[in-house]
Amino acid sequence: MSQRKRRPARPEQPPQPAPKKEDVRKAPQRRSGNSALRFILASLFVLAVVWVFSGMTRLLADPKDSAIRFAAAEATGTPTPVPTPSPVPTITPTPRAYAPFGAQYGYGGEDLIEETGEVLFTPQPTEAPTPEPQPTAEGYATLRKGAQGEDVRRMQQALISLGYLNDTADGSFGANTLSAVTFFQAVNSLTADGIAGQKTLTLLYSGSALPASAAPAMDFLILVNRQHTLDTNYMPSGLVSIESVLSADIVKVKYKGTRANKTAVEALGRMLQDAEAEGVSGWQISSAFRTGADQQKLVDNSVAAYLRNHSDWSRKQALSATYNTVAPAGASEHQTGLAFDVTVPGVSFAGTPQQKWLHKHCHEYGFVVRFTAEKQKITGFIAEAWHIRYVGTEAAAIMTQNNWCLEEYAEHMGLLKSQ
Ligand SMILES: [Zn+2]
Repeated sequence: MSQRKRRPARPEQPPQPAPKKEDVRKAPQRRSGNSALRFILASLFVLAVVWVFSGMTRLLADPKDSAIRFAAAEATGTPTPVPTPSPVPTITPTPRAYAPFGAQYGYGGEDLIEETGEVLFTPQPTEAPTPEPQPTAEGYATLRKGAQGEDVRRMQQALISLGYLNDTADGSFGANTLSAVTFFQAVNSLTADGIAGQKTLTLLYSGSALPASAAPAMDFLILVNRQHTLDTNYMPSGLVSIESVLSADIVKVKYKGTRANKTAVEALGRMLQDAEAEGVSGWQISSAFRTGADQQKLVDNSVAAYLRNHSDWSRKQALSATYNTVAPAGASEHQTGLAFDVTVPGVSFAGTPQQKWLHKHCHEYGFVVRFTAEKQKITGFIAEAWHIRYVGTEAAAIMTQNNWCLEEYAEHMGLLKSQ
């Protein structure tokens, strides 16, 4: 009660030692009876406006300089170098004039804006809001196949919103969720084990995880094997003769005119150049692109050789023996133009310094050693230390990190459906 009654009497009280600027600005109106003071205030107002206007003209004429001055002013805590002849009311530069200008040069102008209570501009969020409300718990319980409940449902919702899971969030960690978690981990450079632990869930809910659409493009990931065959007439685009891109100093091409995919050839060149810089040279390309007909010729030649050496074999036996080591026409990834047989002239490649260097470093350039003894049952081919396949650096990194062959990669990344 007493507070409210005393308020109207405030103008009659002596000036407060440190009045708020808002009060000061309104004060002249309240003291309408004092014409002398009104005149002084009006004069000062005009002076201040002239001062500010001239100051702003200079600032706008030289924004770089002004930005520096703004920064300096901010550092000292004073928004502008305007002298304040307190207790006489002064006009401070209005935020309307400063804020957009300041914002452009990184000066926030937040203090100025608060003083008026006006919203002059609303800072826009620079990142999309997180797809899911962040769990408040300090840690996340590890989720794996078979898990049930609210935590699983929340994880599924996040996976759905990032495009990894094409299913309903039913709170049940089944096969589809396992695939989605693995896919998410692989794309986001986590160990892709399908188990959603602390790292996986923290990144999933962080709002900065890569969406499924960031997965490497399909182009260089075409899967060709005994089960996934190409039409024998299939011809890839983007083939170039290796010698037209790489000089003979970098690599010897065994059969003149051998072609391969241009991007893959360029990656091969970078790789072999770096190898040479590290003292490993003498490389040769024995084979790269082969047409379906070329592949059929290899098969026929092998069958003929078996029949020559084994007079008691049937053609079927010879063909069966051939297919142990030679891919049937349409089943060789040499037909994609993305595979190279890397050798050293005159020696068996396995065990050479070149082979060791290649196996250690090829993934850095987007290649994988396509056929290893370990993955023989999955790839359907026995180990070939010399055969590398271009898949791109992203896929090569993921495959190397997880020790996946291309078949495993394609399965985990959901690429088989689209082929
Ligand atoms: Zn090969």
